[in-house]
Amino acid sequence: MHRLAWLMMAAAAMAQPPAEIPERFSFEEGRIRVLILTGRNNHDWRATTPLLRAALEAAGRFDVRVTEEPAGLDEKTLRPYHVLVSNYCGPRWGAAAEAAVEGFVRGGRGLAVVHAASYPFGGLEVLGEKMTRTGVREPAWPAWGEMVGAVWSAGEPRTGHGRRHVFQVEWKDAEHPVAAGMRPFLISDELYNNFRLKPGNVVLAEAFDDPAQGGTGRREPLLWARRYGSGRVFHTALGHDTDAMRTPGFLVSFVRGVEWAATGAVTLGTRLDLNPKDPDAVRVLLVTGGHDHEASFYEVLEGHRDIRVNVDPHPVAFRHDLRKLYDVLVLYDSIQVEHLPESHRENLRAFVESGKGAVLLHHAIVDFAGWEWWWREVAGGLYVLQAREGMPASRYLHDVELVVEPVGGHPITRELPPMRLFDETYKGVWRRPDVVPLLRTTHPTSDEVIGWVSPYAKSRIVFLQPGHGRETHELPWYRRLVRQAVLWAAGR
Ligand SMILES: [Zn+2]
Ligand SMILES: [Zn+2]
Repeated sequence: MHRLAWLMMAAAAMAQPPAEIPERFSFEEGRIRVLILTGRNNHDWRATTPLLRAALEAAGRFDVRVTEEPAGLDEKTLRPYHVLVSNYCGPRWGAAAEAAVEGFVRGGRGLAVVHAASYPFGGLEVLGEKMTRTGVREPAWPAWGEMVGAVWSAGEPRTGHGRRHVFQVEWKDAEHPVAAGMRPFLISDELYNNFRLKPGNVVLAEAFDDPAQGGTGRREPLLWARRYGSGRVFHTALGHDTDAMRTPGFLVSFVRGVEWAATGAVTLGTRLDLNPKDPDAVRVLLVTGGHDHEASFYEVLEGHRDIRVNVDPHPVAFRHDLRKLYDVLVLYDSIQVEHLPESHRENLRAFVESGKGAVLLHHAIVDFAGWEWWWREVAGGLYVLQAREGMPASRYLHDVELVVEPVGGHPITRELPPMRLFDETYKGVWRRPDVVPLLRTTHPTSDEVIGWVSPYAKSRIVFLQPGHGRETHELPWYRRLVRQAVLWAAGR
């Protein structure tokens, strides 16, 4: 289509009022729809909100959205949701948004309140003239305290907390769905005390507030559940920061509390793993050593659920028979054969001859110049450090901006677009003519083929030349390229 015609059509479309988006297109089928209210807090909401979201998503039952401007909410924007999570402590939201939130909960939906969100919009209005004569910091929006099930008091005994310390959270009501089956847990957190509780709370968990830590010497209620209108509210006083929130007891009680607030029942288990292990993950031995590199390299192999990586650097990486322990070797090392004892060399040879896979990255193409079987048969290439008969020395250049074209049609390069890299280039690398190219560049300081599959028949051997420094390590494209190479090398 002509570009101008397209622009005119686009402009005409924008002038129309937006059509209602059918809910089935914007939410995952069958999930509990959660909206996290955040964006202001006297705590680090930029760190804690993504963790709350990750916990809910790891639980597998929720479709989670986040608003950082709750003041913009209204009845219509809240309509698709089953439950709100407040990780907010800041200015009032205004009459319309507050009425919408209150109506949402009263009308039968759920609310979960985390840590400082119980503080009644702790700001000027609360600390100023809204404080009552009895010293109770009644929120300027009293319905919030009714929903939460408690308010803070500036009068004695003042609501607050002692020193942050490690304490044991004890479950109190084993009959409640949120608490059923839960074990006591230790947490490093602030232990909120002297809440002014509203009638109707079912206290789920409490902790002894140690006077030696500035506490009250009493057991303080920390987690509770309540009804508000025909809705349900779950409150947790825990969760000062991500260290507190990463406590398994916090995470699992939070997701169970949100589920209960949304549905009135709890189906989730009493364990929640943010990073569950995949028993079928490819077992990778990553070998480093012999060449310095930035620590960012380790991020390349982190966080892939289908890959489990151990690191063993030289000089002892190949001391064991590796065949039973690992599926794929990833070499980001630099070693010459003189530095490898005979028995270690045999372990490496046995691994690649057994049909296992190997991925050679970047400077690993310099390895084993004195072991011709390795570079001619296995790697399919060699960065030539010292010129020899028929093999001039290879060269390198740092800090090159280059364009890399993945060669299509191979599982390793599947769906990877051309990429701009800022990396080191190699030129004059000796390469077998019969490798299967994976990556190409036309940069004049580089060889044209900078990634390949070796023709070695006994196992799957991949070489990927990019990966010198942080600029490449941190690219999602590179992470994906290496992951796909590892999976392919493992025969997946
Ligand atoms: Zn706090
Ligand atoms: Zn390098």
